[in-house]
Amino acid sequence: MPATTAPPTHAANRPVGQAMRRGAAGRCPACGEGRLFTGYLRVKDHCPSCGTDLHHHRADDGPAYVTILIVSHLAASLMLTIYTLYRPSTLVMLGVFVGGSLLLSLLMLPRVKGAWVGFQWAKRMHGFGQAAEDPAHAVSPQSAESRR
Ligand SMILES: [Zn+2]
Repeated sequence: MPATTAPPTHAANRPVGQAMRRGAAGRCPACGEGRLFTGYLRVKDHCPSCGTDLHHHRADDGPAYVTILIVSHLAASLMLTIYTLYRPSTLVMLGVFVGGSLLLSLLMLPRVKGAWVGFQWAKRMHGFGQAAEDPAHAVSPQSAESRR
């Protein structure tokens, strides 16, 4: 009978805040080095730096909902404040707030999605918790090629 063993490394906690910050910066939540996205919002299948599988993410519409929630609350409170203080014309209000909301949404969406993917990775959701996916057990591209 084997002696007591230490818990497997894949059971170690992954820091949620760090993973979300790395994701929001567009970096791999595991290593913080490799780029998370291939384009504007498409998540890479694997981290080019550490080889962590990233295709397990299930962001779906979550980042869009969070972005809308944040932008709409900011825009509504700013709109009320600006209108109350300065009473600009309707066209100025429409132009500034439609344009500003659109621009802010486009800027925030990749950051929110990156943080979303980082959260899922840190919480081992949707297949991120499999032992083979843990960076400590991940097969790096170099070691995979050296096996051939
Ligand atoms: Zn990585």
